[in-house]
Amino acid sequence: MSLTVLMNAGPWLSVPPPGYGGIENVIATLVPELRRLGVRVVLASVDSSTLPVDEKITVFGDGQFHALQRPYNQVCGISQAHLGGVVRALHARDDIDLVHDHVEAVGLATLAAMGPQAPPVLHTLHWDLAKHPDLYGNLDGGDRVRVNGVSAAQLARAPRALREHSVGHVHLSTPLAVDADRRPRPDKGDYLIILGRINPGKGQDVGARLARRVGVPLVLAGPVGPYHRPQDLAAAGDEARQNPDVRFFYDEVAPHVDGDLVRWVGTVAGQERDDLLAGARAALFPLRWEEPGGTAVVESLALGTPVVATARGCLPELIEHGRTGLLTADEDELADLLLAASVLDGDECRREAARRFTPAVMARAYVGLYEQVRQTASRP
Ligand code: UDP
Repeated sequence: MSLTVLMNAGPWLSVPPPGYGGIENVIATLVPELRRLGVRVVLASVDSSTLPVDEKITVFGDGQFHALQRPYNQVCGISQAHLGGVVRALHARDDIDLVHDHVEAVGLATLAAMGPQAPPVLHTLHWDLAKHPDLYGNLDGGDRVRVNGVSAAQLARAPRALREHSVGHVHLSTPLAVDADRRPRPDKGDYLIILGRINPGKGQDVGARLARRVGVPLVLAGPVGPYHRPQDLAAAGDEARQNPDVRFFYDEVAPHVDGDLVRWVGTVAGQERDDLLAGARAALFPLRWEEPGGTAVVESLALGTPVVATARGCLPELIEHGRTGLLTADEDELADLLLAASVLDGDECRREAARRFTPAVMARAYVGLYEQVRQTASRP
């Protein structure tokens, strides 16, 4: 296939990401499969990205994740600088058939503003947009900009303007160690895990409370704001509290973290992350937001770990209640489900992931969307 795609990963983290990084993990999973299908990939990211691609466009040397707690205008400045680099590159060449954009509204608006010179754009929504109806207010790319989401639930909640531009949804696939069959499986331990950013939407406070109520050990893995290790957060002092996720952690989660039954281990990566996830009795998602794509949900399945979750966002699309996990709309009922999770069969979870959520399945779906976008984008 002769297709050249500019994959815009943004300036926040390298690809693959050092640990936490939902969007960057998706890109790291997607790109090798696209290249296997013959797509040329030009990656717009940061220079420290190590993902093999055909070409790189970079503005920043390293991921700017640490700057996300700075004032909003500075954060936008970083986005704009990165997009400036992408747009300059696009102006200078005519071999890009399509831009696959993953960077929130700023990226899309900038590309749309290039007008008819811009290649067609497929923008993948990674967030729950119901609370941000204005974020994409200026969607003026007309036919040239198309949108896809990572779940049907996410698209259904997106602002109308976006839904009118949508070409469908593609479930996130499972990054990295999908091929769990080739690796020795650690025995299941007697603990639960919540893998993800520490954030009110992800509900670590609920999980910690419930785990203590039922007396099952719980591991919380993930960054608190820009802080990846407990010692980094401790060293940051009071200034760190400017970050809302840090405040959430201190006010709502930390009181339950006793270092024994409930532990926060910081960000985990690579083999350590996979082993921790594979060894858990269940992965818990006590969500308080409408989870748009749930990479960590799919990763749990791929590693043979059943999911216990609130039935929000994409969860009912990813998990079959009673087979690959247990879902409930009732926060209190989660405690009972935690205890019942051991009846679920981890191998069934792996089979489901191998059938529905492989990188190859995701890449084929995206190539289909690229074709659709290119056919419908009118060039002057
Ligand atoms: N993640 C990780 N280490 C951590 C916490 C998270 O590698 O300590 C990864 C996780 O495996 C997943 C991604 O970060 O691939 C989070 O993506 P998800 O869609 O679950 O959440 P969000 O993008 O909303 O943060």
